[in-house]
Amino acid sequence: MTPGSMKINYKTYNLPFRYPFTISRGTKTHQPTLVVELDFMGIKGYGEAPEITYYHIPVEKMVEDLERKKIFIEKFAFSDPERYWHYLHHLFPENPFLVCALDMAGWDIYGKLKRKQLHELWELDIASAPLTDYTIGIDTVETMVAKMKEKPWPVYKIKVGVENDIEMVTELRKHTDAVFRVDANAGWTLEQALQKIPVLKDLGVELVEQPLAKEDWDGMKILFERSPLPLLADESCVVEQDVEKCHGHFHGINIKLTKCSGITPARRMITRAKELGLTVMIGCMNESSVGTAAIAQLAPMLDYVDMDGPLLLAEDIAEGVKFDFGTILFNDLPGLGIKVQSL
Ligand code: MG
Repeated sequence: MTPGSMKINYKTYNLPFRYPFTISRGTKTHQPTLVVELDFMGIKGYGEAPEITYYHIPVEKMVEDLERKKIFIEKFAFSDPERYWHYLHHLFPENPFLVCALDMAGWDIYGKLKRKQLHELWELDIASAPLTDYTIGIDTVETMVAKMKEKPWPVYKIKVGVENDIEMVTELRKHTDAVFRVDANAGWTLEQALQKIPVLKDLGVELVEQPLAKEDWDGMKILFERSPLPLLADESCVVEQDVEKCHGHFHGINIKLTKCSGITPARRMITRAKELGLTVMIGCMNESSVGTAAIAQLAPMLDYVDMDGPLLLAEDIAEGVKFDFGTILFNDLPGLGIKVQSL
């Protein structure tokens, strides 16, 4: 190993959910995920990329690409995470998920070298971090009510985009005064969205995520002008260039670190979205506490945050992500702010 270079180690997991998790596209019982460990002169940094079938990058593909170019990842003379991201981005142009995991690990190392948590390095005020929501997946109405009652929480994200979704939200509303946000995961037509959104507004819903198919920009233009609730792009906003496209079609964007390829591009997306007057959420892809800790670092820059992965999963890989009734509890650990067992 030459001075200044990295040594890489990784492990794949298939983390079980506490309950089968259903959205408008299907049901999952486990979350496959890749965790990487970079060792830079004895300092270890961690990053994560969960597999999401919808984006067609399985864990096996991440491992295959990583093995194929491991030598190039290791030989880069690391000095700062933004330069590292550029290098990785060109090394893996087709694999943003893998770039995300490595970018996160680079930032973790950088924070550890500076002995500061990332939000401190970026001079953010953690008091301004929004509350995280807790997601209620699609199920029978009775089970959804039971799941909600089991986890008293100030903000729930309810998965919709199915035939009886108004009935689901109506029933849930009878049991709590908490803030509701809904995510249709591209499950509605324009007509359905125009009809359902005013009803959801009356039920105290604060925002709607991805109502229409991701390419339905014409439909979104109409809905954007007529919706009584703010609309956030998720499937329609994947990479940095998409932020611009969302302007005039959505009121905000939901960034996922995995799909945009990490913390480095996410910070640029947040800045650009704010310039365009868009609100910003960072959402999770059911990451363990490793990936979720990276979201927490960015939380003070956000309007909304959805980082409940560790609460939905039955097993975890790291320690350090904690909440008090939706409030993120920060600790004093440097970097991402987590403790991980060496892989
Ligand atoms: Mg979503």
